[in-house]
Amino acid sequence: MLQPVHVGQKSLADYTHLAGKDVIEEVRALAEPLRGVHVTHVSATAFGGGVSELLYTLVPLMRDVGLECDWQVIYGQEEFFHATKQMHNALQGDPQDLTEEQWAIWHGYNELNAEQLRDGMDICFVHDPQPAALRTLVPGKARGWLWRCHIDLSTPNPATIERLMPHLREYRHSVFHLRDYVPDGMAGQVHIVPPAIDPLTPKNMALAPDDAAYVCEQFGIDVDRPLLLQVSRFDPWKDPIGVIDAYRLVKAQMPEVQLALVGSMATDDPEGWEFFNATLSHADGDEDIKILNNFNGVGAIEVNAFQSHADVVIQKSTREGFGLTVTEALWKGKPFIGGDVGGIPLQVEDGETGFLVNSPEACGERCLELLADPDLGRRLGRAGKARARQEFLTPRYLRDYLRVFSAMMDQA
Ligand code: UDP
Repeated sequence: MLQPVHVGQKSLADYTHLAGKDVIEEVRALAEPLRGVHVTHVSATAFGGGVSELLYTLVPLMRDVGLECDWQVIYGQEEFFHATKQMHNALQGDPQDLTEEQWAIWHGYNELNAEQLRDGMDICFVHDPQPAALRTLVPGKARGWLWRCHIDLSTPNPATIERLMPHLREYRHSVFHLRDYVPDGMAGQVHIVPPAIDPLTPKNMALAPDDAAYVCEQFGIDVDRPLLLQVSRFDPWKDPIGVIDAYRLVKAQMPEVQLALVGSMATDDPEGWEFFNATLSHADGDEDIKILNNFNGVGAIEVNAFQSHADVVIQKSTREGFGLTVTEALWKGKPFIGGDVGGIPLQVEDGETGFLVNSPEACGERCLELLADPDLGRRLGRAGKARARQEFLTPRYLRDYLRVFSAMMDQA
């Protein structure tokens, strides 16, 4: 049923010299009065996508600074994940709302999970809409409730958000990536906290260029030819089809170019396979397009190797809650091109720390520009890395949450 996730250990001290001393000291000062506070994170999946990525770092660091922290994954069967996938799409603007039956399924699984939630939490930290009804169902189980929205809620399907809103309004505190994502009618205290990446994980630690190339070679990449890359779930919002179109424009002028599309398939994403196949057929058997997923053995080190080795990293999303893949690329000092949407412009200043684009054509042109001028790519990459270091590493993220917890405990 509700499954605890085992996350291992991490130590805040290890981040001191990558993130800078000041933020580490701030974290320690904020954590002191929160010692022993019990925080339970609740999310929909322990694998795939940004939320689980973040929690594998955050939960052990919260423990390291003295909180009693755990992470529970809700129970759900395929019918539930179909309904929540539809909800996710609708909340990001899909005109199709859930059917009555799907709403009932969503609510039913929330009831099942609510029953199992332990009593006596200080803070129940609920991630995303899948478990969002927990607060309405069992308000007495925690002293404080926090809802964390990881998606882009700027233009939700009106019927879907209206139906969800009574549940969201019950949370006295909520956290969003950007001010733009806060839906009308949100109650309580709204906090803005953009996410961050962990520079010490296998995905983000420095990898020697030879090692990165060696890994890519094993997936059939010719390491002597230029490589464009997009890492992301196979999802229409991530626009891998548009990336293929951009690659084709580059290919017409630079026949040696290659493209890798690397995407994990999440356990809560049944539509992923359908779209994976659509992407595959759009590639039309081109041998210089490699389409890989976690079932091909692409894990964290491999993602790191592709990001470290690629000549240009792309994230051509048409919707993007934040885009951890963007931060990951910046952190590797890579020339980066991203869709001018959601959390991407928060991270990338056009022409300074990368390029922002609105079409496959613009994306293709920027690729050609970067491939033709490696100095330009290096300059943008260096600036992007500096920005990632300052704004988008774990200690800053942890600090922001501790500020929220302090506000919650003061009120409790
Ligand atoms: N990811 C991965 N393997 C893949 C594809 C994606 O590990 O094949 C990771 C990626 O590196 C990033 C996360 O999944 O850390 C995706 O987070 P993001 O915010 O970019 O997008 P989301 O999937 O949450 O929409």
